[in-house]
Amino acid sequence: MSIETAANLLFPPKCAACGKIISPVSKELALCEKCLICWKNEKQLQIKEIHSGTERAFQVMTVCRYDADDNYGGIGKTVLLKLKCKPLKYAARFIASEMYTALEWLPISADTVITGVPRSRRGIRENGFDQVELIACFLSELTGLEYVPCLVHRGNIRQKELDYKHRFENAAGAYMMKEKNKRIFCGLEYGTSKNIQESNSASAGAVRVSTSIKNRRKYVSDIFGRDVLLIDDVSTTGATFEACSQALLSGGASRVFCMSFAGTAEL
Ligand SMILES: [Zn+2]
Repeated sequence: MSIETAANLLFPPKCAACGKIISPVSKELALCEKCLICWKNEKQLQIKEIHSGTERAFQVMTVCRYDADDNYGGIGKTVLLKLKCKPLKYAARFIASEMYTALEWLPISADTVITGVPRSRRGIRENGFDQVELIACFLSELTGLEYVPCLVHRGNIRQKELDYKHRFENAAGAYMMKEKNKRIFCGLEYGTSKNIQESNSASAGAVRVSTSIKNRRKYVSDIFGRDVLLIDDVSTTGATFEACSQALLSGGASRVFCMSFAGTAEL
């Protein structure tokens, strides 16, 4: 028996939406047949223009709709809600692979880096993980693009607690570039000069994220002069994307492409 077969027996792949065990053959699909049919009807790639009242309008690419008030919500919402509560790799992998299919619409080059909209420290503390970071890791694996977790969230107020106008005010200044030479591990910063040296030799030349998310240790590297693919799980007003884009551009990024898995109707 191969290791993979044994692993499938011990941890059979599950449908990312309903949790039903699916056959290992359809593992790549990540959904059971029933959910896959629903998803095919639901998936809708869209590019939304954001006008925040500042000088720059920008675009956000979304893969599906997200209706906060809809009790059913569809496959996309179901998977997102699951991933918000638990760091389910199969859910993160599904979202990343669906975002991957939308990348052909963006002018991504091999030098483009991926970064995620960071959770607040409060969010990470309460949840114990950052779901966008998980998605970014899988997207990095799929694309071969470097994942650079270079943003940090310094705010204390959650966007969802605010109305449209105040979201832009709250987001502006809440996101900034992380200081260099700090390692990150599952969203938490730490680092001493000794750690940095060890990490440096271990990750020399590594541009891909390790398949083991638990063991992933990376430097915050320079994004200067490079395009950045900025990702989030759900986008509403675009205020967060705008604030993060401003931080990245002022940090030297050449261009920023924004993509969220789901976009709400208010977007
Ligand atoms: Zn299913």
